Amino acid sequence: MKRLRIRVEGAVQGVGFRPFVHRRAESLGLTGFVRNSPEGVVVEAEGEGERLAAFLAALSEEAPPNAAVRAIETREVATCGDTRFIVRESTTRGTRMAEVPPDLATCAECLRELFDPADRRHLYPFINCTQCGPRFSIIEDMPYDRARTSMRRFPMCAACGAEYGDPSNRRFHAEPNACRECGPSLALWRGDGSVLARAHEALLAAAAAIREGCIVAVKGIGGFHLVADAANEGTIAALRRRKRRPEKPFAVMFPTLPGVAQCCRLSPGEVALLTQPAHSIVLLRRQGGHIAPSVAPNNPWLGVFLPYAPVHHLLLSALQMPIVATSGNMSDEPIVTDEAEALAQLAGIAELFLVHDRPIVRPIDDSVARIVCGRELVLRRARGYAPAPVRAPGVAPGILALGGHFKATVAFSTAKGVVLSQHLGDLETAAARAAHQRATLDTVQLEAARPRLVVRDLHPDYATSRAADKLGLPVASVQHHVAHVAACLAEHGLRPPALGVAWDGTGFGPDGTIWGGEFLHLDGAGWRRIAHLRRFRLPGGDAAAREPRRAALGLLYEAFGDDAFAMTDLPPVAAFSGAEREVLRGMLARGANAPVASSMGRLFDAFAALAALRQRASYEGQAAAELEWAGDGYDGAPPYVLPLSDAPQGAAMVVDWQPALEAALEDLRAGAAAGRISARLHAGLAAAIAAVAVAAGERRVALTGGCFQNARLTAMTVAALTAAGLEPIWHRRVPPNDGGIALGQAAWQGWAEEKGE
Ligand code: ZN
Ligand code: ZN
Ligand code: FE
Repeated sequence: MKRLRIRVEGAVQGVGFRPFVHRRAESLGLTGFVRNSPEGVVVEAEGEGERLAAFLAALSEEAPPNAAVRAIETREVATCGDTRFIVRESTTRGTRMAEVPPDLATCAECLRELFDPADRRHLYPFINCTQCGPRFSIIEDMPYDRARTSMRRFPMCAACGAEYGDPSNRRFHAEPNACRECGPSLALWRGDGSVLARAHEALLAAAAAIREGCIVAVKGIGGFHLVADAANEGTIAALRRRKRRPEKPFAVMFPTLPGVAQCCRLSPGEVALLTQPAHSIVLLRRQGGHIAPSVAPNNPWLGVFLPYAPVHHLLLSALQMPIVATSGNMSDEPIVTDEAEALAQLAGIAELFLVHDRPIVRPIDDSVARIVCGRELVLRRARGYAPAPVRAPGVAPGILALGGHFKATVAFSTAKGVVLSQHLGDLETAAARAAHQRATLDTVQLEAARPRLVVRDLHPDYATSRAADKLGLPVASVQHHVAHVAACLAEHGLRPPALGVAWDGTGFGPDGTIWGGEFLHLDGAGWRRIAHLRRFRLPGGDAAAREPRRAALGLLYEAFGDDAFAMTDLPPVAAFSGAEREVLRGMLARGANAPVASSMGRLFDAFAALAALRQRASYEGQAAAELEWAGDGYDGAPPYVLPLSDAPQGAAMVVDWQPALEAALEDLRAGAAAGRISARLHAGLAAAIAAVAVAAGERRVALTGGCFQNARLTAMTVAALTAAGLEPIWHRRVPPNDGGIALGQAAWQGWAEEKGE
């Protein structure tokens, strides 16, 4: 007889791990206990040596599907002669090695019960079990126990308590366990907060209102959705007006997977992405179906997701049709999580409010992902992914990183990896900045550790830069594109050396120009700018990000000087009046309010404007996305040439776009389609990346920055680098856009410390 003390680290709480341990121990005739602790799951098991060995093997090999065992530590202790195996009360002391579990979509077993008239939870919208249900959105503190979640205000009834305490029940220690008798319930409210209906009546009335063309605010897992009939053009157009969101696509929730297949093309990878426990919004190719034009205007893709909370399943089973389900907020404001807030902020948008009384502890948006090069690429990392730690090698605990300004996140390095917060949005409003501040505190508190240093962007005017300076901690700054490259490496468990291709819209360059078309070499000694896109001016500064025609004019002016203003046959030039052109000429000639940029995002915008696709954008990245889509069907078009200049000693090489610009003008004047220009540009850029990488002599090439959300660019670049015998690295579960900046800041700082700086 032996007794082992076993500590299991990883994603082992909130996934049915203790019940699994209990069952396995009993089946092997072992005695002892299992309990949650901040350090992970702690087990003491007593029995024969062979049985203990089988038990240890089972812990990692047979763990429940949503668990991830990162490490198992064992030591022998004195035997106690226990007679049973039990689940013990959690302990709250110790280093927090257990991961905070993400929210999990309703599982198949719970779904079956939900629609089974004989089940006691028939049509109960808060059904869950150890394999599914809310987690991160209800957790107030760790270790994960009902007493430290927002479910603590719902004492379990006798029937729920019996399930919770029965080791053979699939709700054994299911922390949010609830039923109609004891758990949360639904209500349907009018805009003045008066109750229209309760419980299942509320759900049916909400469904009826949606069918009739109403917009209903629905409280879900991480916040409110605004829900409307996806086929009703009048309602969707009204939703756009009220939300002040003219064109940015809305996501559509379909009742079932076969329903999705009627509207969109589906690969096996996309099916897997739609149905994994995170249930993110997946970008899919449209191929028909009845979706109102205003849902995603002029967009060959549709953001699609499946019901992930019981309330969605019930609503969609009542409706039997796809619904728009978009974040309940005004543009640029954080998602609304609370009933009172919803009434105040969404009153002008929604007619009715389907609410419940289980508090949402923190706002969490839906995640967004797509398949690129045959695998998952997360574009917005939130529900279902956050706050899983990223195992960045060589990063010591205690580094707090506040991220950038757009698509902000917060990162905090811990003993189990760098914890990365959920997507917090653009910090353009006071409410968004306050939400970022709360998330910073929240991230630190959940780890119960003290940050010893804070990392910020170099940009002096970012809200996160000012917030970092006010924390009273030592402050370090990391250049924006260095952070992008570091994020890409860290997510894959890699570290420098590597060549980073960091392409995005804007980042603060240490030379006083705007960077965004960068080739950075990172190694043990630091980083060096190997090459960059040829610079051009952006007349109007920030206005150029909203008006691709300005980027185009800046590009033409850099290439042709004053002659650019006479090229009125070109759509972006013609899009300005004569008087406007005079103002812009003055700006460009004097360099006033026309910052110099090496921005690849703005180069894409400029080509989209030249190809007559778009002169003004109504959301970030719109023009570049339309250029990407235009290229469909033009594969194999010969690449434009973007030559690489020789660099004088020590200076960076320059990727020159002028020959590509001239060739594009020739194509345009010969009547070529926008798609041909798009395909030739993408192919040329991929070839230019491969040429720089070969010249740099670095085998590993990290592709990062918002431009690598572009599937065409990423796929062509990966192919070009592979053909050149190099090793391309691109993002997977950390977004290539600024959502990854906080992680990169923490990783780069960690690596700098390791060198002893
Ligand atoms: Zn379940
Ligand atoms: Zn109950
Ligand atoms: Fe960026």
